[in-house]
Amino acid sequence: MNGRIAETTIVVFGAGINGAALARELLLSGVSVAVVDTADIASGATAWSTRLVHGGLRYLEYGEFGLVRESLRERGRLVRLAPHLVRPLEFYLPVAGRLGGLVAAAARLMGLESLARACSGHRGRGGWAIATGLALYDLLAAGSGWPRHRMVRAGRPGQPAVDPSRYPLAGIYSDAQMLFPERFTVELLVDARRIAQETGARFSLFTHHAASLGPDGRLRLEPLAGARDGAGGGIELQPAAIINATGAWVDRTLASVLPADPTPPLIGGTKGSHLILRAPALRSALGAYGVYAEAADGRPVFVLPFGERLVLVGTTDIPFTGDPAAAHADEEEIDYLLRAVARIFPAAAARREDVAQHYCGVRPLPAARADGRTAAITRRHLLVRQREAPLPCWSIVGGKLTTCRSLAESAAREVLGALGVSVRGTSRDRPLPGACEGPSRAAAEKLVETRVAAAGASADTARVVAHRLVDLFGARGPEVCAALEPQAPLIADTGLPAAAVRWCVREEWAASLEDVMERRLMLSFDERLTRQAVEEVARVLVQEGVLQQYGLEAEVDGFVRHLRDRYGKDVT
Ligand SMILES: Cc1cc2nc3c(=O)[nH]c(=O)nc-3n(C[C@H](O)[C@H](O)[C@H](O)COP(=O)(O)OP(=O)(O)OC[C@H]3O[C@@H](n4cnc5c(N)ncnc54)[C@H](O)[C@@H]3O)c2cc1C
Repeated sequence: MNGRIAETTIVVFGAGINGAALARELLLSGVSVAVVDTADIASGATAWSTRLVHGGLRYLEYGEFGLVRESLRERGRLVRLAPHLVRPLEFYLPVAGRLGGLVAAAARLMGLESLARACSGHRGRGGWAIATGLALYDLLAAGSGWPRHRMVRAGRPGQPAVDPSRYPLAGIYSDAQMLFPERFTVELLVDARRIAQETGARFSLFTHHAASLGPDGRLRLEPLAGARDGAGGGIELQPAAIINATGAWVDRTLASVLPADPTPPLIGGTKGSHLILRAPALRSALGAYGVYAEAADGRPVFVLPFGERLVLVGTTDIPFTGDPAAAHADEEEIDYLLRAVARIFPAAAARREDVAQHYCGVRPLPAARADGRTAAITRRHLLVRQREAPLPCWSIVGGKLTTCRSLAESAAREVLGALGVSVRGTSRDRPLPGACEGPSRAAAEKLVETRVAAAGASADTARVVAHRLVDLFGARGPEVCAALEPQAPLIADTGLPAAAVRWCVREEWAASLEDVMERRLMLSFDERLTRQAVEEVARVLVQEGVLQQYGLEAEVDGFVRHLRDRYGKDVT
């Protein structure tokens, strides 16, 4: 213990998308913030979602109009403020017939869930129900400037090649995709650091740290395996307040930090699994659309383009009470998702061997259930105050990627109000640091290209690197080139220079091989990833002092095994 006492105002537990957005929002009002996470940035549900920024068409059936309106408003905002990371995507919603689902939808709206279930059958929602839902969706998005939906005959050229015998009609509407919420969350924290520099407030981030709270309200942080800072021992903070934004871990965090707190369980999480398919026929059957359909049991299934060549399929929805870090896609879920794809696209059905990898996460849903049906649990977020704590303490329950910013804004307003601090700014119009699109994106790519070529790369290589860097870092791409070595060595088969690895360590808090591969450079999703690339990243991490030369081979072996055991991905 080094006895250092930092004068921190608010401590946020959890560096997922919600904790990061909240830290940034609080800093905009000039208060100092420390974010503490037991693992890395965005290593929870944020990384294991369907990666959509959407109004949530399905929530209309449960009468969640306020949530859908808020989500649609935030959808537009996130596309505007982070266009490099959140992109509009057209959705194709195949419809099984004309009438199915109307009575069920009406019954559900009236709160008659058992009648709704009795009427749903397995034929799915029909044209009238879908058209009504989409018209309502447009209405709730009124004034946003987003395109309105249209109903079409299915099977036309240029549309997803869904089973024409099952689906005579389809609805087409727009939502958005956040391909890498991990990068979005890192950028929220990069911006938090920037705001602190602008305002003079303090911002610190302690990843891989555990916290314990004393009866005097002092918080003690101890580094866990993988921590880079605090190596000299523990750190003590005297927070004015604590906000528990640990998602599906909220109850576990309360139990460890405030063991005497009488709050009943807040979270009733469900696990959801996804597949990433390397299936060219399916990818081309999708075209430029995301497809939103139903599995045989009526559960929603998304079949989405994932990058240029892969397909993302999700998800399942199964009650889960274990440690969220241990949630794993099991074989039954994998079969279920493959069957759902085969039902929608029988001519382009994927096989087990097309599963390049899978992942699974736990939704941080409120414990209270509308009726025992997991799909019916509200996706709305709540801020709950712990009254028995030795200092002001709140927990965030629920939330979506889509509403991370509005959640942060409303939670900051409530917390600051309770602390007697006035709100001095909000993130409503503040772009993320990498924001660029159209001409500004082209300019960033050009600049990277020039710098990479000046370091000795061929014109072709420079173009590939520019595209990759700007995809990941947006307008910050050219800054990443500051650490380019002469000849700009590239990490094998990745189109990324070693400088990008250095940047993640120096500027983005990466503290391990996993942090770089999974949540900074997103290489763990790259279908071309090889063991050689993992070794080369690891060697740069040795140069950066993150890893040691001794035991490097074992480190690489461990990561390769982790990819195989956790995500079913083989890079050998
Ligand atoms: C299967 C699935 C699909 C989804 N799809 C979508 C979608 O398409 N669109 C959408 O908008 N939303 C979606 N969501 C919801 C969304 O992903 C989550 O609501 C959101 O990511 C929650 O973020 P968070 O920051 O609250 O939690 P998390 O991202 O889980 O972050 C919690 C953090 O707390 C840390 N932590 C744990 N214990 C402690 C502790 N004791 N002290 C400090 N830190 C701790 C963890 O390491 C983690 O980093 C989906 C979720 C799932 C699971």
